[in-house]
Amino acid sequence: IKRVGFIGLGAMGLPMAKNLLKSGYELHVAAHRNKQPVEQLKSEGAIEHTSLVELVSNSDVLISILPTDKEMESVLLSDDVLSNLSKENVLVEMTSGSPEMMKNVHAVYQKKGIRVIDAPVSGGTAGAQQGTLTIMAGGEEAVLDEVRPVLDAMAKQIYLVGAIGAGKAIKAINQMLAGIHMIASGEAVALAEKLEIDKEMVKQVIGNSSGASWMLMNKIDSLTERNYEPGFKLNLMKKDIQIAVNEAKDMNLPFASNALQMFKDKEGESGELDFSAISKDILS
Ligand code: NDP
Repeated sequence: IKRVGFIGLGAMGLPMAKNLLKSGYELHVAAHRNKQPVEQLKSEGAIEHTSLVELVSNSDVLISILPTDKEMESVLLSDDVLSNLSKENVLVEMTSGSPEMMKNVHAVYQKKGIRVIDAPVSGGTAGAQQGTLTIMAGGEEAVLDEVRPVLDAMAKQIYLVGAIGAGKAIKAINQMLAGIHMIASGEAVALAEKLEIDKEMVKQVIGNSSGASWMLMNKIDSLTERNYEPGFKLNLMKKDIQIAVNEAKDMNLPFASNALQMFKDKEGESGELDFSAISKDILS
């Protein structure tokens, strides 16, 4: 595999694509609305195309990391993309979408003999920059092995979780926890400030105690600074918890349901801010 086409050059996709260039892949990109990511990648050696048709036609592996199910459907099931992929190609689908949409895409691709790997990621923009993401894959081991070198350029850990859709499912569970932990971390920081406990003490003491979480340790600085620059947009977290709640169907998940409602309440005002803005009011 030499030629990689990359669709979705956002907060995650852009740094991931840069790591592919660094690892020597021939990277093919096309601008969507924002031209800046393509300009940056071009200056680092990427090949720009003016259409998806052109991009897809010049790729062996196609990677997509788009915002939601909606874009997955409109891009991956479009004629422009589908008619220009064949048995030679592998789609690596990295969006945090729903298991159902992943299975829909796979069913259509399978009919055409196009191989697919479901491969959402965790690790945030820092992990994307450093090439230390965790990939939660779904699909066939042989297909995963074929694209593994490409994934290795972006990730530290790659887990094959199950069949197509299993990657999206475990990602939704991770996001349910991450959303709940974010809300809890905001409350903990607010209480620590009220009780005049130094931030460094919180890091050290709670960091070595049973209340510690990845979220608290990674977000305490930006929370105390009231820095809500994304990062990971609040609207995307709302979408992820919605997927988890949808998957739960008639099962009652009180924490997840409450977290979802809290993120929904904030989407208008803070949707484009980092998801830590969920604690904006209590930290005001
Ligand atoms: P962003 O909103 O930063 O980026 C989305 C990208 O998709 C933009 O470059 C946008 O281009 C592009 N895009 C949107 N629609 C289309 C389209 N129709 N055709 C081609 N490109 C399109 O999102 P993130 O990078 O933050 O997130 C992407 C996915 O990764 C989401 O599912 C998210 O939940 C997940 N994720 C995010 C993490 C994070 O920390 N940010 C961590 C782990 C997973 P344009 O701006 O030009 O419209």
